[in-house]
Order: sequence, then C-alpha cells, then structure tokens
Amino acid sequence: MKTTIFTGPKEVEIRDVATPEVQPSQVLVKTQAVGLCTLEQRFYKGSGPESYPFRGGHEVAGEVVQIGSRAMTKARIGDVVCLALLTRCGTCYYCRRGMDNLCVHNHESRDANLIPGPAGLSEYVVAEDYQVYTTELPSTRDNAWECRLCELALAEPVACVIRSAQTPPLHFGDLVLVQGAGIMGLLHVQLLKQRGVRIVMAEPDLRRQAMAMQAGADWVIDPIHTDLAAFMRERSDGYGANAVFFTAGGSEAIQQALNGMAKGAWLNLYGSVHPKGPIQIDPNLIHYNEWVVTGSFSHTNASFQQAVAMIASRKVDMGMFVSERIGFPQVDYALERAISPDTYRVVMTF
Ligand SMILES: [Zn+2]
Ligand SMILES: [Zn+2]
Repeated sequence: MKTTIFTGPKEVEIRDVATPEVQPSQVLVKTQAVGLCTLEQRFYKGSGPESYPFRGGHEVAGEVVQIGSRAMTKARIGDVVCLALLTRCGTCYYCRRGMDNLCVHNHESRDANLIPGPAGLSEYVVAEDYQVYTTELPSTRDNAWECRLCELALAEPVACVIRSAQTPPLHFGDLVLVQGAGIMGLLHVQLLKQRGVRIVMAEPDLRRQAMAMQAGADWVIDPIHTDLAAFMRERSDGYGANAVFFTAGGSEAIQQALNGMAKGAWLNLYGSVHPKGPIQIDPNLIHYNEWVVTGSFSHTNASFQQAVAMIASRKVDMGMFVSERIGFPQVDYALERAISPDTYRVVMTF
C-alpha cells in the first residue's frame, strides 16, 4: 500500500510499504477521507519543533475491512468509521485521572519499528479498537455520500471544540465573545449557538467575517478598528461578556478581551499563541471579579464520541469547512492548498 512520510520541511514522500498486519486488538480500515489539519500543516511548513520522519494524517474516515480476533468494537466489516488516531493509552497518570486528552503517549505508536505519527495518509490504517467510532453512514456511494464522508473525517476538530464550548456555565441570553473565525472559532460559534447565548465574533478578515455570520454569530466586529470592550459593554447594559473563547489573534487579543469581561466571566484559552508572549493581568481583577481563566487542549475519548454524534445528526455543519477535496496521492498539492489562507479544510480523498 502507499503511505505518506513527512521527511523534512516541504518534503513529503509517497512510499510503498506492506499493508499493516492486524493484531488481535486492532481494526484495519481502508482510508477514504483525511482532513489536513494544523498538525500536518506544521510538519509540512517546518514551523514547529517537530522531528522527522513523521507519518501524518490524524483526521480519518474509512471503511472497516478486517477486525482483529479480540477487538472490542461494535464495528463490522463494511462499516464507515471515524478514527481518533492520537494515542490515549488508558494507563498513564493523566488517562487515569480522566484527562486522556493529555495522555503522555499522545504521538506514540505501540509498534517500535514504525516511523512515528498517526499515519492516516495511507491507503490502509490500523487502529486500536478504542480508536474506532462507528457512524451510521449508509452504503449508497454518491456525491452526497462523499460529502458526508468528508464531514465525518473532521470529527477531531469538533471533539476538541466541544470540550471548550461546553465547559463554562452559560445561561440562555448570555453574551459571549469568540476571537478568530478560523475553523476552530467557527465551530465554537456553531456549538455555542446551541447553548442559547448571544455571540460576538472578533475577526478582521472580511471573508472570514462572512463565514462567521453564516455559522450563526449575532455580531461580527473587526477587533483592529473597533473598541472591543466598549462593544461588549454596549450589548450587556454595561457589564461585559460572560465568557470569552480565544482561538486566534495573539496575546494582544487576550489582553483586549480582558477589558470587556463581566464579573464572574470565564476566559478560555483554546488557541495557542504564536509567537509566544506573556500577557499582563492584575491578579486583583481575577480576585474582585471572580474571573475563571481556563485552557483547553485536544480531545478526549468522550468528546470524540460526542463529535461523531453531532456530525452524524447534523447538529454541526461541517460542509462549510470542506474547502477542497483532493485525490490521494497528490499530497504535496493538497498540503500547499491546506496552508493557503483561502482554505478552511482540505480533505484528501482515496
Ligand atoms: Zn486535527
Ligand atoms: Zn495515557
């Protein structure tokens, strides 16, 4: 079978390797759709501290072709499944505390002979039984089916945003701020909308602003030319936002958000900050205002299951994020498109 190896910045190779052998606890899946997420984009650009070689592709949907003799799964041959390929070992300190999103073996494989990485950009993928999530996608394979398949491949970002969007104790009618209308910000909008809150999106880019309205934001403002804090107060009788979800915009954006928060507000740092930089915060503001500052990172087994259910029942519209579908093995071209600012998600189809 063909697999993709990231060998260095802007260097990807398609190699012929043996189709993986299925261990008793594993499931073999014929890959059908893979989302090219920030992880793959980072390896492609060489913009992080990543080490090579690496086998990318962690947002995968495909068809079950073989099931190990002792695999504990309700998946059957022919089922379309979503795979959560990042390792959740179940035995490390964090997994045992119910924080499996922080599993210390996140990027490791159980097979020491393999090149590291989730290896989804391959014609076949073996997954551990616990990494397989069944869907109810029927077997009619038309264009609509392929669209649904690409949406299901994007369960992972939904699973990450679910943890962020469901955590703060929000009330109907509350005012929330989402910063950044990339795929993560827009998913926040879609999910938060269902919690009955009023949503302000802060995003400078015009095209992304339009996407935020389409996703369900009540207001979209340009944080560079608008006084964000004043805007939040105007819409809340002078009190400010009840929750802020930071997904992009750097430390200045976080600083800006702090000026527009009501007492008792939550600030969730969903996105990472690049380039790295500190924020200044007066601890008395946290004390007197009873602010709650949280972070959220990656997904858990639980949130992945929720994500598949949300996509399958169309409670989230993933179709708006599938910018292009590109056939394997045009991986170079697909990654170039994925890192281009005019795409949300590029999905590789097989
Ligand atoms: Zn991802
Ligand atoms: Zn673990």
